[in-house]
Amino acid sequence: MSDFLINRQIGCRGQMAVNGCVEGHVNKHCCTHELSSMARKNRKKLIRDIAQQQIKRLFELADVISEMRPELSDRYIHLAKQIGMRHRVRIPSHLKRRMCKHCGKYLVPGRTCRVRLNCARVVITCHACGKQIRYPYKTQGNQ
Ligand SMILES: [Zn+2]
Repeated sequence: MSDFLINRQIGCRGQMAVNGCVEGHVNKHCCTHELSSMARKNRKKLIRDIAQQQIKRLFELADVISEMRPELSDRYIHLAKQIGMRHRVRIPSHLKRRMCKHCGKYLVPGRTCRVRLNCARVVITCHACGKQIRYPYKTQGNQ
């Protein structure tokens, strides 16, 4: 039904009749059909854009509230992860590093995790589950 409504709104000024649109296109290559497939693509892109914004916003909120209610910030990043999976949006790496991939805890250096540098790697130890996350950092030698 929503497809139909969108077609009506953007295709052929809503005058799609039995015998074609105002421009005289009658077959399946009519401008309305092209527009409808374009609209579907755009809608997908739009949904992904919104999902990306929501993920960013949830991490911001988790950051703000982590001091007062850490369990709530864990919930926020859990939601962000779910949104990312549902709409197949990648969580940016700098945000991904703020969550424990083992237990899903929001990581705040000095409070919920420990950050150390070891052999050209950043080692983050989660205080909740005790597991480690490692990722390389750039040194002058391996840029
Ligand atoms: Zn953990």
